[in-house]
Amino acid sequence: MAEELVKIDSITKIYDTDAVLRDLSLTVHEGEVLVIIGPSGCGKSTLLRCINGLEPIQGGSITFRGVKIDGSSRNVSAIRQKIGMVFQSYELFPHRTIIQNITMAPVLVQKRDRSEAEREALELLRRVGLEEKKDAYPRQLSGGQKQRVAIVRALAMHPEVMLFDEVTAALDPEMVREVLDVILSLARQGSTMVIVTHEMSFARAVADRVIFIDQGAIVEEGTPEEIFEHPRKERTRKFLETFTFDRVKK
Ligand code: ADP
Ligand code: MG
Repeated sequence: MAEELVKIDSITKIYDTDAVLRDLSLTVHEGEVLVIIGPSGCGKSTLLRCINGLEPIQGGSITFRGVKIDGSSRNVSAIRQKIGMVFQSYELFPHRTIIQNITMAPVLVQKRDRSEAEREALELLRRVGLEEKKDAYPRQLSGGQKQRVAIVRALAMHPEVMLFDEVTAALDPEMVREVLDVILSLARQGSTMVIVTHEMSFARAVADRVIFIDQGAIVEEGTPEEIFEHPRKERTRKFLETFTFDRVKK
């Protein structure tokens, strides 16, 4: 078995008085692609934010290569650099060019050499087909292009695991495809990833393991075949049914 990269051990996350994650345990192994599915509000984004040390937890523990991730501790900035995250909204800096957006953190946070960081940024942009946009500003790019830049920006930090939170939810269909293709190519290269998505055919193609969460707890997990073709739990079946339609009969 590959090495354990992220280990979540029966965590509880409470907002005010609501338990949003309940006694949830999960391990991400090196090189593994984990896809998380579940209804709106079930805690998917909260889970990713906890992994990234953005949220304090009220019970249990999360470790990265055996080191505890704790929102309040000093190691959080070091660990966050090893965990790349891409959100639904790209959050690029509007007054910086694409290449500046990508090189800013490697140069300022990781103290990398600027020309080396720029060389790498260009290589990453080439891989997602956006080399010619390096001097453009975010407003000059389409949603799909901005989201590909956001992925490149995360990759430029050399993370050991990438977290994707519904990164195509705000995009038009043809842009969804170009962004998912980038993530598929990362999977083929063996990147470790945790992906929250509602794109079920993509989930099936990319996942090593699928996790279905409802009301802050894991209901069921398994291979894509197990979850999509032979779900064991009624709750999983009901959720998956929301993605299919029966032909209207007249
Ligand atoms: P998902 O990403 O699966 O749609 P979230 O993780 O965003 O779900 O939210 C899970 C639950 O936690 C929801 O009930 C949501 O309203 C609640 N929640 C999320 N963020 C906060 C917050 N900052 N304060 C209070 N409640 C929150
Ligand atoms: Mg969410």
